[in-house]
Amino acid sequence: MIELTDFQRDISARFEQVEFRFGEPMAKHTSFKIGGGAAVMAFPKSAEELSCLLAFCKDKKITPRILGAGTNVLAPDEGLDGVVICLKDCLDGITLLPDNCLRVAAGVTMTRAAVYAANHGLAGLEFAHGIPGTVGGGVYMNAGAYGGEICMVCKGVDVMDFDGNLHRFSGEEMGFSYRHSRLEEEGGIVVSADFLLTPDDPEQIRARMQDLMTRRKTSQPLDLPSAGSAFKRPVGGYAAALIDQSGLKGYRIGDAAVSEKHAGFVVNLKEATAKDVRALLASVSDIVFNKTGIRLEPEVRIW
Ligand SMILES: Cc1cc2nc3c(=O)[nH]c(=O)nc-3n(C[C@H](O)[C@H](O)[C@H](O)COP(=O)(O)OP(=O)(O)OC[C@H]3O[C@@H](n4cnc5c(N)ncnc54)[C@H](O)[C@@H]3O)c2cc1C
Repeated sequence: MIELTDFQRDISARFEQVEFRFGEPMAKHTSFKIGGGAAVMAFPKSAEELSCLLAFCKDKKITPRILGAGTNVLAPDEGLDGVVICLKDCLDGITLLPDNCLRVAAGVTMTRAAVYAANHGLAGLEFAHGIPGTVGGGVYMNAGAYGGEICMVCKGVDVMDFDGNLHRFSGEEMGFSYRHSRLEEEGGIVVSADFLLTPDDPEQIRARMQDLMTRRKTSQPLDLPSAGSAFKRPVGGYAAALIDQSGLKGYRIGDAAVSEKHAGFVVNLKEATAKDVRALLASVSDIVFNKTGIRLEPEVRIW
């Protein structure tokens, strides 16, 4: 039995209907399988529960961290004080709206949204099939692959501020750019997103999704824990090509390594720590800069 702090006792007493875990290992919630215990992890099942939790945290002067599927987060070895609000599978649901539009809750995975769209004969989310994050995480950072990006299909987003109030932004108002949205500067939590799609034959949509999945499986080290592409695409090149040219495939610090299969991926070989990964990211960035003059910036969010 762990001994609870006053805050942990207060929050669980105030919200009897919400699931909480105390000291929950972040490693269980990140695709890197890295990270120590979160003091409080909360799993709100609706926008209303989320709003009440945010108001409570604000009152206690705590800004919670928002976690989707944890597929783009490096969590610290020493764990996290405060509150992590986990939305994957919590904010749930997909609704078919008129005019070929889908409203998808933030906790739904992008793959599930893409499959749902295909089953309803709606094209446009094929690129998202195989991105392992949630729609919330994907909108937050304008996820993309194989020529598609969230911003190309996103018609509008319901965003909750950290006071618990809902706002509606159009796709244009989201300030999307490469792996970026306005939420990164301004804060705000994606509650749901509307995607404007195009009618097409389900079989053809599925065939395109299958093709992209085959390309992923062929080129990416999906058998090892990672957070996908470790670095953003720099101006003037591709991160994976620059790392490969710098002779860094297989380069390793502790159990964190540049993948032999795809130089853009940093993988956890077995027991990598966040310290190993941070050191590897910094070292790869320095070596590539010295060899090519191009500075690589991490894509993975370092908490
Ligand atoms: C094998 C693999 C392949 C990948 N391939 C791709 C790819 O092809 N293209 C690509 O773009 N990415 C790819 N990724 C990275 C990752 O899946 C995406 O960045 C995804 O969008 C992250 O979503 P998530 O739910 O996991 O977010 P998390 O990792 O949980 O969070 C990432 C950031 O988003 C914030 N966030 C999460 N949910 C919300 C929300 N509801 N509201 C506000 N902020 C939120 C978090 O606070 C954090 O700052 C890959 C990752 C892996 C492991």
